Amino acid sequence: MKRARNFNAGPAALPLEVLQRAQNEWLNIEDSGMSVMELSHRSAEFEKIHNHAIQTLKEIMEIPDNYEVLLLQGGASLQFSMIPMNILKDGKRADYVLTGSWSEKALKEAKKVGETAVVASSKDDTYTFIPKVTDIEMNEDAAYLHITSNNTIYGTQWKEFPETGSVPLVADMSSDILSRKIDVSKFGIIYAGAQKNLGPSGITVVIIRKDLITDNDKIPSMLNYSIHSKSNSLYNTPPTLAIYLLSLVLDWAKEQGGVEKLAQINEEKAKAIYDTIDNSNGFYKGHALSDSRSHMNVTFTLPTEEAEKQFLKEVKEAGFVGLNGHRSIGGCRASIYNAVPLSHCLELAAFMKKFQESYSAKETQAL
Ligand code: PMP
Repeated sequence: MKRARNFNAGPAALPLEVLQRAQNEWLNIEDSGMSVMELSHRSAEFEKIHNHAIQTLKEIMEIPDNYEVLLLQGGASLQFSMIPMNILKDGKRADYVLTGSWSEKALKEAKKVGETAVVASSKDDTYTFIPKVTDIEMNEDAAYLHITSNNTIYGTQWKEFPETGSVPLVADMSSDILSRKIDVSKFGIIYAGAQKNLGPSGITVVIIRKDLITDNDKIPSMLNYSIHSKSNSLYNTPPTLAIYLLSLVLDWAKEQGGVEKLAQINEEKAKAIYDTIDNSNGFYKGHALSDSRSHMNVTFTLPTEEAEKQFLKEVKEAGFVGLNGHRSIGGCRASIYNAVPLSHCLELAAFMKKFQESYSAKETQAL
């Protein structure tokens, strides 16, 4: 079988080694005579897997001791509500930086819970850039400041994070967690749906500073950080298979040399495609301004709708999967998460060059 050259935005490519290990252990996990899906979530075997996932994430992200890792359900989307429900206290205001559709959605949910404000936005420029940290109208009394560290749809990424003093910085890192080194101590909460850099869909990682977890009986149990924290994220039945795969992906990330090494490879991967865009004499046009370019989602357009249609048709026929832009904005997008190998990015870059040559030659002939 030939592995697909998978550029899907999420669920996305998983490391082949992870899939092979899962296959080897499929019928018999930890010598239990059962598959991981058949284990009780209260069994010693599962608890070991669950705690291993949490420990490994703490280790590779160098998460300080005053933080907790929660493994929750409901996707990153449920965090849009859980965050304000848990940490937007009466009389306080939550501040949001808008850098794309996901930050808009996060804001929409927060508005239902309490007072909010938009303190910086690139919406008027179709989200082509990340606002400068110095342009954020910082409010020193805010309940928190929310950002989206990588904008999956528009292909922009924060390169430098705002200093927020005593205001907790909350970041949706769904599409770039584990892709580069992050100083966790700068954040109050980091959250991410797993289905891009961490594993399959169905599990959401929440890294939360312990002082932000407070008891509040008014919040429904399943939406309450304190309840999940007290039960080590085993308040109810967790998605055991997804947690197991998360633990394998984290082992894999560690074996690759950790986040620093992954960041180095990701930079090389992104450079191969961005260089192709920059050297195409305007045939390919990147959506993001260069200083805001994402190393995870490369978004670009072609000179005409017809050229774009032809490109998407031919790239698919050539065995590249998932190059269509998000349905809300169209265009093309290559999602190059940790598990996408450098070789696939180089092959895509080569395909793009070849397509440009043949398309331009046909155009010239037609004149
Ligand atoms: N935030 C970002 C940055 C995303 O890319 C996505 C999904 N693509 C979400 C949030 C929503 O995640 P989920 O589908 O896990 O709720």
